[in-house]
Amino acid sequence: MAASVPNGHTTATGEGGTPPSSSSSLVFLGTGCSSAVPNARCLIQPPDPPCAVCSQSLSVAPELNPNYRCNTSLLIDYCQDENAHKYILIDVGKTFREQVLRWFVHHKIPCVDSIILTHEHADAILGLDDVRIVQSFSPTNDIEPTPIYLSQFAMDSIAQKFPYLVRKKLKEGEEVRRVAQLDWRVIESDLQIPFVTSGLEFVPLPVIHGEDYICLGFLFGRKSKVAYISDVSRFPPSTEHAISKSGGGQLDLLILDCLSRTLDAVKRICPKRALLIGMTDEMDHHKDNETLEEWSRREGIDVQLARDGSRVYIDLCNTSLLIDYCQDEVTHKYILIDVGKTFREQIILTHEHADAILGLDDVRIVQPFSPTNDIEPTPIYLSQFAMNSIAQKFPYLVRKKLKEGEEVRRVAQLDWRVIESDLQKPFVTSGLEFVPLPVIHGEDYVCLGFLFGRKSKVAYISDVSRFPPSTEHAISKSGEGQLDLLILDCLYRGICFFSNLH
Ligand SMILES: [Zn+2]
Ligand SMILES: [Zn+2]
Repeated sequence: MAASVPNGHTTATGEGGTPPSSSSSLVFLGTGCSSAVPNARCLIQPPDPPCAVCSQSLSVAPELNPNYRCNTSLLIDYCQDENAHKYILIDVGKTFREQVLRWFVHHKIPCVDSIILTHEHADAILGLDDVRIVQSFSPTNDIEPTPIYLSQFAMDSIAQKFPYLVRKKLKEGEEVRRVAQLDWRVIESDLQIPFVTSGLEFVPLPVIHGEDYICLGFLFGRKSKVAYISDVSRFPPSTEHAISKSGGGQLDLLILDCLSRTLDAVKRICPKRALLIGMTDEMDHHKDNETLEEWSRREGIDVQLARDGSRVYIDLCNTSLLIDYCQDEVTHKYILIDVGKTFREQIILTHEHADAILGLDDVRIVQPFSPTNDIEPTPIYLSQFAMNSIAQKFPYLVRKKLKEGEEVRRVAQLDWRVIESDLQKPFVTSGLEFVPLPVIHGEDYVCLGFLFGRKSKVAYISDVSRFPPSTEHAISKSGEGQLDLLILDCLYRGICFFSNLH
């Protein structure tokens, strides 16, 4: 079978090479359409001539048959450091139990740490009842619920279809609820609002599925960028831009729904490599991959049909980002440097007190010079409160337009970006994610610290008198995990605080 999977793609049986245990990988749990393949109807009411793809399933065992396809689903085995693997499941369709039996066992996947749903059609959610088989067992079922991410539309639909999975409370007289324990988390269908689960950031990619139904794809991975889009008939321009070589930057891997105009989309998006999913019984793995190989040679983009059970090793982690934290007497600022690339400076403001912002006028001295000052504005991240205050203090730095008769504005060029003071709303700049850490500064003034870094976790908190419990939890060893480095305001309680955070 290995010969049918060119370019070193791992075979379904995973014998294409010894899996590096310290690497992240993607396991294709299913690559078939909604009815799955074989389509049972082709076997109980055989057409004349018989369906070539479906009839294979009568003689070839599923493990050896790349035309045997369960509902589309992907498992991300995310490995941040050598021994810590997190398993993120995208979609839980009608064939979920079979996929667990077939591929979790084969690839030695013990559990699922989080779940993401693309939409609420049957082929994406009808296995939800079986999620309990990938959860840990406890006699009283008082286990940690598995976080499950979905749109509000999907949430409403699932609450009707599976009320017992959504309801939390025991009924009267009920002692144990032997059902999957799920922690429902509604996400926005918005490219600008990424979310983080199991340590990996996902950017929602809204696409049109069918006529006017919104389905979500997801963009993830730092070192290698992957987009997963399982159900799409049409791309909104903003989504296509975000995943295109000419827009958001070239993808390392595009996993895309196999439709009639798929290859046109692949050409426009221009990833380094594409794997197709969602195949019906009209697609024959071997024959169509031969055709695709020709197309790939011609167009210079490696495209193949994926197959159930195959595992693709891919480095999703961030490696060598250098953070240069720079502070002087009048300004607090971070300058982020992308190693090996051009310098891209960004500014992040913690709050709007004088000691944090009065150097803003001087930002121009660290900007490039142009006679007409038509330079790229420096992105600057701040809270809405700080934005309002700065707009009053420095109207000329916020105002964009030239005044009448003014030819050149010799002021710092800034691109103001308001962020939420919310632990759950991280933002990404220069490829690095920052989690805002709201803290109390003085009596009741909210100032922001930031948590950043993937391999090493750093928290920077410059002005704090008191920690809200949620912020403290986010940076504590006993909460979200031990920090590698804490940069903390030197206050009278600073030192005892260290022992709390540990
Ligand atoms: Zn068929
Ligand atoms: Zn669908």
